[in-house]
Amino acid sequence: MSDCLFCKIVAGELPAELEYEDDEIVAFRDVNPQAPVHLLVIPRRHVATLLETEDGDAELLGRLQRVGVELARRHGLGERGFRLVTNCLEDGGQSVFHLHLHVLGGRVMGWPPG
Ligand code: 5GP
Ligand code: ZN
Repeated sequence: MSDCLFCKIVAGELPAELEYEDDEIVAFRDVNPQAPVHLLVIPRRHVATLLETEDGDAELLGRLQRVGVELARRHGLGERGFRLVTNCLEDGGQSVFHLHLHVLGGRVMGWPPG
């Protein structure tokens, strides 16, 4: 997707503070952090939202979560905890339409979300 912000980060066409990468996943710092630790874990492949995922993506979705957990641990969140969240479409609060998992931590999260 030539006009997708996160595809451009994957392609190295836009700068990002990379935290992790492998053959199918990239993770980087959120440019507008909502917590002391705020990372985004994304598939290299363009998938617009959770609604576009299929049964065949189950392993990828699991791997996004596993990478999120390991990054949370690496950032010292293994003791007090953290939040992993994916927003979907307008009501879910999604603003970038390339699937991503937020890793948030370093402060107490509120519930329910606003
Ligand atoms: P969403 O609102 O779609 O769940 O999350 C999108 C996230 O992407 C937001 O937290 C926003 O701060 C972040 N973001 C938007 N543009 C950029 C960018 O160019 N670089 C980085 N690193 N994060 C971005
Ligand atoms: Zn994309």
